[in-house]
Amino acid sequence: MHRLQITVLPYCIGVGSAYLGSTLHAVPLWAAHALALWCTTGVLLFWALLHHDLTEQWHDPALIFPQVLFGCGAVVLAYTLIDASRGLALLWLCLLMLFDIHRLTTRQLVLATMGSLTLMVVATLLHDQLHDTPIDRISEWISLGTGAIVMPVMRLVSLKSYRMRSEMLAQRAALAQTVADLERASAHDALTGLINRRHMQTLLDEEFRRLRRTEQAFCLAIIDLDHFKQINDQHGHAVGDAVLQGFAQVAQTALPPTDRLARWGGEEFLLLMPETGLPTAQQRLDALQQKVRQHDWAAFGEGLTVSFSAGLCEPGGRVPLHRDLERADRALYKAKAQGRARTVLADRT
Ligand code: GH3
Ligand code: MG
Ligand code: MG
Repeated sequence: MHRLQITVLPYCIGVGSAYLGSTLHAVPLWAAHALALWCTTGVLLFWALLHHDLTEQWHDPALIFPQVLFGCGAVVLAYTLIDASRGLALLWLCLLMLFDIHRLTTRQLVLATMGSLTLMVVATLLHDQLHDTPIDRISEWISLGTGAIVMPVMRLVSLKSYRMRSEMLAQRAALAQTVADLERASAHDALTGLINRRHMQTLLDEEFRRLRRTEQAFCLAIIDLDHFKQINDQHGHAVGDAVLQGFAQVAQTALPPTDRLARWGGEEFLLLMPETGLPTAQQRLDALQQKVRQHDWAAFGEGLTVSFSAGLCEPGGRVPLHRDLERADRALYKAKAQGRARTVLADRT
């Protein structure tokens, strides 16, 4: 339907020019009528078929090829009946083909072009029977021959540019995908899929700025897996890796979605708990500890158990954030010293 709407304008221009020509005595009035009848009938017929969705089951539901043939018919009719349109006919034919060049198959394009040119040759041969004024046949043959060469060349050039455009679009899509992959990779840890230290640092800075602005409390905890070196030594490095992944999964399932967990380094993780005070944070870490200890780690290696120690702190916003991280680190150290598998609250600054 869209194509038909666009082509109505050129048809109007063509018919309008024919009537203008007839008022200037350059075009016989009956020829202008004939062209108008052809264009109006065709446009109405296509409009009726497309508007009522009668072509949905057809091989070419948008009726592209029939519309091209109909357009060719209009050009050939004008060429045959209107002497004044002779020089413009090839131009119109080129425009018509260019308009649908990517929607037609080569076969359809050759059929439409060669069919039109053949009819134009016949019209030229019969010219003297239809018109009083003679024409220069030699220049007509040259024009029509040029048309027969120009159309295939046009097709080749446009196919090449179409391919180049498709390749460029594919390359652009691949580049966008690569950028997205790189962005993801730059913010995430490859082993666990958690956000990485760099990205967590950005989140912490944002949270810290919010705290200073709105006094919205938040907590952070540094979590360190206990005796991880032993796990590596006893079960192998691959099992160690699987435990890190397993811990990340267990934690993400156990924690609320608003909490953010990052791999801070090695077997250390940093948990950011926005809009959370110390008592809730402590409870959350205790619940996580329970989930981690209950997890079926024996599936990773015989007799394997996992626990973690954590240093928990609530930044106050009065000292720089790195001081809060140091406090959490000292609390973690205490948790290790006190026997591991526990969370220790950081000292006040
Ligand atoms: P603690 O309870 O005091 O924390 O003891 P630990 O053995 O966990 O601590 P330590 O710092 O001595 O050892 C940490 C180990 O974690 C050493 C290192 O080889 C291992 N590790 C760090 N990153 C990875 C990793 O990506 N994969 C594996 N499999 N091991 C890692
Ligand atoms: Mg450690
Ligand atoms: Mg450790």
